[in-house]
Formats: sequence, structure tokens, C-alpha cells
Amino acid sequence: MNTTKYIFVTGGVSSSLGKGIIAASLAKLLQARGFTVTIQKLDPYINVDPGTLNPYEHGECYVTDDGAETDLDLGHYERFLNHPTSQANNVTTGRIYQSVIEKERRGEFLGKTVQVIPHITNEIKERIQHLGQDGRYDIVITEIGGTVGDIESLPYIEAVRQLKWELGRHNSLFIHLTLIPYLAAAGELKTKPTQHSVKTLMESGIQADVLVCRTEHELSDDLRTKLALFCNVEKEAVIQSIDAKTIYDVPNLMLDEGLDKIALKKLRLESSQEPNLTQWNEFLCRHKNLKGGVTIGLIGKYIELQDSYKSILESFIHAGAANEVSVEVVSIHSEHLTPENVADEVGALDGLLVAPGFGERGIEGKIAAVQYARTHDIPFLGICLGMQMAVIEYARNVVGLKGANSTEMDAKTPYPVIDLMEAQKSITDKGGTMRLGSWACKIVPDSIVGSIYQSEEIQERHRHRYEFNDDYRTQIEDAGMRVTGVNPQTGLVEIVEVPEHPWFVGVQYHPEYKSTVANPHPLFVGFVAKAYALSKNKK
Ligand code: GLN
Repeated sequence: MNTTKYIFVTGGVSSSLGKGIIAASLAKLLQARGFTVTIQKLDPYINVDPGTLNPYEHGECYVTDDGAETDLDLGHYERFLNHPTSQANNVTTGRIYQSVIEKERRGEFLGKTVQVIPHITNEIKERIQHLGQDGRYDIVITEIGGTVGDIESLPYIEAVRQLKWELGRHNSLFIHLTLIPYLAAAGELKTKPTQHSVKTLMESGIQADVLVCRTEHELSDDLRTKLALFCNVEKEAVIQSIDAKTIYDVPNLMLDEGLDKIALKKLRLESSQEPNLTQWNEFLCRHKNLKGGVTIGLIGKYIELQDSYKSILESFIHAGAANEVSVEVVSIHSEHLTPENVADEVGALDGLLVAPGFGERGIEGKIAAVQYARTHDIPFLGICLGMQMAVIEYARNVVGLKGANSTEMDAKTPYPVIDLMEAQKSITDKGGTMRLGSWACKIVPDSIVGSIYQSEEIQERHRHRYEFNDDYRTQIEDAGMRVTGVNPQTGLVEIVEVPEHPWFVGVQYHPEYKSTVANPHPLFVGFVAKAYALSKNKK
């Protein structure tokens, strides 16, 4: 018998309350008690996946080992749980409809009229239960995107309402995350919006079992009593989620509030041990007792929205804690960088990271930043487009190939040192067609990456269409740039280094997707360590 328990997390009153962090924190506590847990995100938008979305829409597109382009919340799940997610962990309305329509075209509905209920809701239920299917997980936490009351999320709410009865008593739990606003003029926390959103949920047939209340101020005992009374929950199921200094504090805050205990109680799950958070708390301890500091420039074109580079920013937090060094990330808009102002903009920084990206906008600024880092011995990490810019900069300024470029930016460049991958040439659809997910990379042992990874072959995640053009490899290597990592099957260049520079590494893959609290990414750890070591010499 499958005994997987299901927890559903909904949100009310406002978006951006941090459902993903609450789901990840609860999962962390349950995992720390010895349960196997995974988290799934249901997104109500009609895009099949977020791969085609501009980062300004929903922030970074996160990529899993199996090559799924997913919501950035999956990054939080992996960073907290240190356990890989997959395509099954992120489902959108577009994907649901796509598969129902494909089934309809194959005639699988045997002449029936295809409707939201039951066909769409059945597909949603299948996707939720798919994760619990083979008993891999004791608990599946499903986060429903959007806010209760949105037209778009109705089929999801209906699907989980049905599922509750199908799963049977004590096998599912509803957590509703809500906002308790503080009215400064009245000096009061207000419960009315929460009452209304709980009521909206009830109109869809769902009674919240647990309320997690986002608040800027402590909830008083009276207020908890009132919320319990008006919202039909036990008082111990009113959980305060007060603003935290860092998202990594949230598991401990939820532990203090007893969120894991109430969840286990309602799911009738026994747990003899308290959560073992030793490793987590060691990380927090290092993170909060930093002994030095570095300032790293993040050169990108989506810097107005911090979420666009979420995984990179989190990787720096992990790497900072590993080195016991605070990492201040200064975001610099690549469109505003020129060869004339670059010294003023980046000259004082301890390290430079040139970010991933697409399209022509801002690339000359990125190239100017690479050149400055290379010629001034500033530790440099180029990720994906950042690595490609490093190759272009080297080709133009060291090899002497004037006008060298990527054919993504200039189809007519005389020196296409970065070019469309052969396998991409016949592709016309934009969705899910890049070189995605985990691929092997063979490393040259006597190199920066060789000493960092301490392994001859690594697996890293990718998301790109263009690559280092092999036709120029000999010329570029003869001029000094070293290729220190290649894909063992295809020979595709994955890593470049500049040997006469103290720390200059460009990688075609995205190390930031694999950095977690338990396993900070070695490349970020090494980058921060070098930036710190050299910054001390400067002082
Ligand atoms: N635009 C580049 C490519 O498609 C880089 C992609 C990226 O930075 N993720 O190859």
C-alpha cells in the first residue's frame, strides 16, 4: 500500500509572501526528522514552462539535472533539501492542457466532451500523485502558485479538494499562507484579510488545517486566539512567520512555532526524534560570524530584478559561509559599462562575475568588464554567456581577430569564435530546445578547475544554444587561453582559463544551479577564496 502523505500549500491576501520558502522550510524540518520529502510547484500560467519567459516576468529560469526549465522556487527546494528535483516537480497550466489536448487528439477520451472537470483536474491529480507513486517519498509537498481567488488557480484548488477525499483521512494537509498587515496609523495588526482569504478557500470546499501568517510584528496570544476562532483552525495551528534577516533562518523559526509538529500530528505520522539540524546550524553559524569581506561585481542586464540572478546570489551566500567571508554583490548594468568608464565602475572590486544572458543588449559592456578583469588581475568568473564573452574578448584583444563575435550577436562577424551548435541549426521552436540539463565535462587536472573539483570528470547543468567554435581553438590556445574542460563525447569546450592570470575561469555551464547549503559549489567557494586572498594583499 502506498502510504505517501500529501501537504498542499496555498497562498492568500497577497502574492510574494514566500510560499516557496515556507514549503522548503517545512520540508527541511521533516527531512531532518528522517522523512523523505520532495516539493512540487504548480504554476497557473499558460506557458508550458518558464523557459520562454523574460527574467523580468518571474525571475530566473532554474534548470534541473534532467533538463527541465523550471520556476526559481525549485532552486530553493534544492538548496534547502540538497536533493535534486526534476521535470515532475514543476507543472504549469500550459503543460497540463498540452497533455490533455494531445490525449484528445490520440482519441484517448473515447468520444467524450473534454472539460476542465474532470479531464483537467484528473491530469493535475495525476501529476501530483506521480511523485508519490513508487513510495520514493514519505511526504510530497505541493505548492500551488498564485493567490486563492485567482481565476487561473481554480482548477488546481478543485483538483486538490477532490484529492483530499480520494487520499482518505489523515493523508493530506492544507497549509494556507497569509498576510497579517500592520496598520501603522492604528498601531494594529489586522486579521480581516486573512479571514476573507480563508473564507474564499472554503467557498471552493477547502478548509485550511494550518495558517502560516506572514507578519512584520509578533502575533499576540489574543490575536492567535481570534484567528483560530474566525478561521476554523486550532490555536496551535496558527503559525507566525515573522520577517527574517535571511531565508535560511526560516526553518528554525518554523521549528520554534511547531509547524513540523502540527503537520505530523494532523497527518498521523510518528517521529520519535527531534529534527537534526546540526549541519544546517553550522552553516548558519558560519554565515553569521563572518571574519572578513569581499565585494564582487555582478555584471548583467537584468539587474533591476534581484530574482533574475537568484541562484548566483544564493551561491555567493553559501560560498561566503564556507570561507567565513561576507560577500557583498554589487550589481552593475552591462549596458552602462563602456571601455571609458569601466575602470571607475569595476576597478575597486575584488572579483567580477559576468552573468548568463541572451541577445545583443549590453554585451559590449560585458566584454569591457572581461578585458578589465583580465588585464588587471581581478579574479573573474564567466558563466555561460559570460564565458562566451571571455572568449570573444580574448579573440579580439589578444589573438588580434578584430570584430570577433558570437553569431548570436552578429551573424556576419568575420570571426565567429562563438557559433550556433550544429544540433541547434535545424531547430525552430524556442521552447525547451536548448542544450539543457546535466552533461559530463572532462577536466584537465593541472588547472584551476582541476584543483577546485579534485575530480577528472564532473557533471554540470547547461542552458545554451551557442558554443566555442572549434575552428578557432588552436589559434586561441596558441595565443595563451587554455581549454581546461571539454565534453568527453562531443569535444564541446566547457571551460576556459587564462594561465598568466591569478584566477580567470569561464564556464559554459551553470554552477549556480548546483550550490546548496550542504554542498556549496566548489567553483564559487574557490572564486570567493581567491578574491579574498588577493583583497588582503591589496590592503
Ligand atoms: N545566449 C547564449 C547561448 O545561448 C548563452 C546562454 C546563457 O547564458 N544561458 O549560448
